Amino acid sequence: MESYAPASTSTLRLTEVFFSLQGETSRTGLPTVFIRLSGCPLRCRWCDTPYSFQGGETVALGALLARVAEYGAPTVCVTGGEPLAQKNCLPLLTALCDAGYSVSLETSGVLDIGKVDPRVSRIVDIKPPASGEAARNRWENIAHLTPHDEIKFVLADRADYEWAREIIQARSLARVCPILFSPVQGELPPAQLADWILADRLPVRLQVQLHKVLWGNAPGK
Ligand code: SF4
Repeated sequence: MESYAPASTSTLRLTEVFFSLQGETSRTGLPTVFIRLSGCPLRCRWCDTPYSFQGGETVALGALLARVAEYGAPTVCVTGGEPLAQKNCLPLLTALCDAGYSVSLETSGVLDIGKVDPRVSRIVDIKPPASGEAARNRWENIAHLTPHDEIKFVLADRADYEWAREIIQARSLARVCPILFSPVQGELPPAQLADWILADRLPVRLQVQLHKVLWGNAPGK
């Protein structure tokens, strides 16, 4: 891993940095350093990280990179909240890539992903109706996606599932990048969602959140 000499005093609002196994996406199971930035303009009904909405500490970009380096792990995930709501998320992502990390970004899909460093694997939500935020999906983002990005639908019920199935077909999303289906914990049983996917032969990957299987809803995991 290259050392990083901070060239800027840019700051970010940070909820937490922690080291865990990646619980989602094609990187599931990989030891990963998570950077959870503070703030989010959305209020998804089933959000599991409302503690990131407000507060957090102000950190300089260089100091944040130094904290990440302490873990000695090659894989980093920038998440939130909605990380792209902070303008300095973009230089953070580029600095992480420059330092040699394999970087992913988890974003709500309502903000522009077009300026994200192309070395970053972007995990972009499409919000279904039961989230309460479907009207805010930024469909222009789909044109920016490449095969090393991923689209994620978090589904609460059968109506969400049918909505997502229609979007995938209408927009030929399976040709764009991998598609993830996640059930809302405590609302849609994963086995039920699995049965629907199999019945329809949908070209999607079912994921359960590995960290919750291992550790429940413990913070910092
Ligand atoms: S976009 Fe993410 S962090 Fe923001 S409210 Fe929705 S689930 Fe929560």
